[in-house]
Amino acid sequence: MFPLALDSVRFTSGFGDARSGGRAHHGQDMFCAKWTPILAVVDGTVDWVAAVRPKNGKSYAVLLRGDDGNQYFYDHLNNDNPGTKDNLGDPEFAYAFGIRNGVRVTAAQVLGYVGDSGDAEPSGPHLHFEMHVGDWAHPVDPAPALRAALSRRRALSARRSNP
Ligand SMILES: [Zn+2]
Repeated sequence: MFPLALDSVRFTSGFGDARSGGRAHHGQDMFCAKWTPILAVVDGTVDWVAAVRPKNGKSYAVLLRGDDGNQYFYDHLNNDNPGTKDNLGDPEFAYAFGIRNGVRVTAAQVLGYVGDSGDAEPSGPHLHFEMHVGDWAHPVDPAPALRAALSRRRALSARRSNP
């Protein structure tokens, strides 16, 4: 499943791009409107969900431990109260209702909402998405899987609008 509830998205920063301090970018950035629902890409178990608002400029994030054996990391979820840019939103505005550590989810279930928490504030709302094959030490470029999932979704919605 594509991790965002929309048919078109702007891919910006790619896998392996340089980051400050010699780090490499371990995911894909997809820019889209704040509050765009973030979806589970596979069936799995939710982990790494913040129970309280993160302090010191930290972000709201989700780790999805997929039943396929892979791990999927979503970052920069919304941290603003509705209608504001206050960075004071509680977890209920970052995550969908009932999303907390240990919860089982099915593919396409809403996990949370796009935002600009953490260091995304200057660049604007986007989803940072990582895919780790097996354990956390093995990030791979999620772009091919993302593009394939997006074309499948586009084909589905085209069929729906032209029966
Ligand atoms: Zn990123």
